[in-house]
Amino acid sequence: MKVPFLDLNKQYQSISKEIDEAIQRVILNSSFIQGREVDEFESAFAQKQNSSHCIGVGNGTDALIIALKAIGIVAGDEVIVPANSFIATSEAVTAGGGKVVFADVEPDTYSINPQEIKKKINSKTKAIIPVHLYGIPAEMDKIVQLAKECNLFIIEDCAQAHLAEYKSSTEGWRKVGNFGQISTFSFYPGKNLGAYGDAGAILTNNEELAIRVRMLANHGRIAKYDHLFEGFNSRLDGLQAAILNVKIKYLEEWTEDRRRNVAHYLKLLEGIEGIEVPRIHSNSKPVWHLFVVKAHKREKLIEFLSKHEIQTGIHYPKALPNLKAYQYLNHNSAEFPISNYNQDKVLSLPLFPEMMMEQIEFVVDKIKEFYKH
Ligand SMILES: *Cc1c(COP(=O)(O)O)cnc(C)c1O
Repeated sequence: MKVPFLDLNKQYQSISKEIDEAIQRVILNSSFIQGREVDEFESAFAQKQNSSHCIGVGNGTDALIIALKAIGIVAGDEVIVPANSFIATSEAVTAGGGKVVFADVEPDTYSINPQEIKKKINSKTKAIIPVHLYGIPAEMDKIVQLAKECNLFIIEDCAQAHLAEYKSSTEGWRKVGNFGQISTFSFYPGKNLGAYGDAGAILTNNEELAIRVRMLANHGRIAKYDHLFEGFNSRLDGLQAAILNVKIKYLEEWTEDRRRNVAHYLKLLEGIEGIEVPRIHSNSKPVWHLFVVKAHKREKLIEFLSKHEIQTGIHYPKALPNLKAYQYLNHNSAEFPISNYNQDKVLSLPLFPEMMMEQIEFVVDKIKEFYKH
């Protein structure tokens, strides 16, 4: 049985008529940049995330850079990011004019460890960027507490966590993206809500920040040639917005399908020696962008699964401080023990909403077979 890592084509087939019509509509109206589709999507996404303001931008990396500019990052400001994430999180800090400071992650949830954040805070620290990695919410209660105590901004990187929920001890269940001052999303095609090209968004409940973000993303202007400062050209385009307007209607359903698939995996994987599964706290409802386990003898397992036509991934093969891009920070590997352990063990198993139960059972059967030998 063939098990692809992800099957975007299968999803397209299920909504092709609506998608094709949406694309046609944008072309006929020539509403390529901004326009009605973008407005519609911004309000639909804000509503789904229970946030007051949504600003569509070019992609999730731009969203982070613009968010950093919006909170006023200047040269010398330090921004704390997890040692285990996609490089966009840290890259944006540098591009936004700040200095990258890594903090190690938690073993169970893979997200940034509040204790480790605390160790990295000093007088130059301006912001924290927690990432809800793989769709699992970070420990926001403790991070919010720290940020309050030290007067820091929080930018939540929600690129992998559309609709994920976290139960705050003071405010109850809330969607991620509402715990800091500002949050960022990616609609890269493979993300839980994916466009057919690059796209992203910024959410905030602060009106002043919303206005600033909207100007930053559009050449620092409000009216056509009235530029109040220099910004960027990073706008959500009409075609991507129209596609997202179709897909957002299915996001809850697809999220439930992901949850059902992961529940099935977790049940079947129980007690397999050689595999560690993520442990989810009761105050968190993940949306499972990826289903990441820690596998012993990982490379051999990947080879075995691939021989049986099961595709897997590694997110990410190198912890950020170990990348050549960050050699200049002169970290040694003992500084991030969990991230270093993870880079050698993490394995992303196939996961997408349209996956069949038999495919999951086949994957787990093969994993069992591998560890038996
Ligand atoms: C995908 C991703 C981004 C960047 O999004 P793009 O739209 O690809 O620029 C940022 N952070 C994380 C954690 C991501 O997974």
